[in-house]
Amino acid sequence: QAAGGRRPIRELPDELVSQIAAGEVVERPASVVRELVDNALDAGARQVTVKLEAGGVRRIVVEDDGAGIPAADLPLALKRHATSKIGNLSELENVATMGFRGEALAAIASVSELSIASRTDSDAHATRLEGRSGELNPSARAVGTTVEVRELFFATPARRKFLKTDATELAHCIEAVRRHALARPQVGFAVWHEGRLVEQWRATASIEQRARDVLGADFVDASRALTLQAGPLSISGRAGSPDSARARSDHQYVYVNGRFVRDKLIAHAARSAYEDVLHGGRQPAYLLHIEIAPERVDVNVHPTKIEVRFRDGREVHQAVRRAIETALAPGRAEGAALLPA
Ligand code: ADP
Ligand code: MG
Repeated sequence: QAAGGRRPIRELPDELVSQIAAGEVVERPASVVRELVDNALDAGARQVTVKLEAGGVRRIVVEDDGAGIPAADLPLALKRHATSKIGNLSELENVATMGFRGEALAAIASVSELSIASRTDSDAHATRLEGRSGELNPSARAVGTTVEVRELFFATPARRKFLKTDATELAHCIEAVRRHALARPQVGFAVWHEGRLVEQWRATASIEQRARDVLGADFVDASRALTLQAGPLSISGRAGSPDSARARSDHQYVYVNGRFVRDKLIAHAARSAYEDVLHGGRQPAYLLHIEIAPERVDVNVHPTKIEVRFRDGREVHQAVRRAIETALAPGRAEGAALLPA
């Protein structure tokens, strides 16, 4: 099609629309893992098991023991903009689930071979749906859901070419699970690769214990507990000691209402709190759990929901900065700082 040539305007076929959307949501195997674990958590899972082959490129399986999907709804789960999580604008503005756009499964299914088996507690058996053929078959599993994704990007070679080695993709997949694990101590997580258990975090009542399990006792022992309550906003977590600062920003975990986010404003606030104690461009390590009234934050900014927008950015900036500065203050008793937040 030469530029300037005229072709009629047409509506794109559904499949192509999903493939276009997949470009935003599904960058690599880790994006699939993130979306599937989001869904498992939204379903109330207590245990989430991720099984990978070839760094997730060949195969990703996510199993949960959540509420499941009624057999009659299974085909809808793969449809674009079909969701059980919101039904109107006011629910969108107060959304408490990880998902709400009804896009992920449709997008993933459009760039892979996807199947989904599920069972609710009122079903006599599980039902399995093959994404491509739409075929439904009885299947065996306990209450919960298993999503299997094979041959990611098999039909979109441009995307496939951007994938790194299996080891790198695996590392990203594990990181995706780690991000969930830090915010959900009550849920057990396991990651398998090529039949070997590569990570496991057992359920615990304590978010402090989970931080220890996921980030390591060394990090936690060398960090200060932080906690702050400021109007509609509360912050808890850990501020890494200046000595445990690193060359990369890979130990900066920020959660807003349980959702992992990357936010420039928060990163800036944290950096300024470390300004006087960190030198030479090193990156502080920290873990921040920010709870804020849902109407004060917009999570519907980006398809991956990794970015958020705050109604009052200054309020958040000040609170984060103050929480970290207080935790790092030299006079502060080390013993008190090590108590669980
Ligand atoms: P969203 O999470 O935004 O609703 P998805 O495409 O990720 O969109 O999922 C579509 C729907 O499928 C969900 O709203 C939910 O009802 C159902 N679903 C997906 N995964 C699971 C799961 N693991 N357990 C229970 N229901 C699920
Ligand atoms: Mg989802």
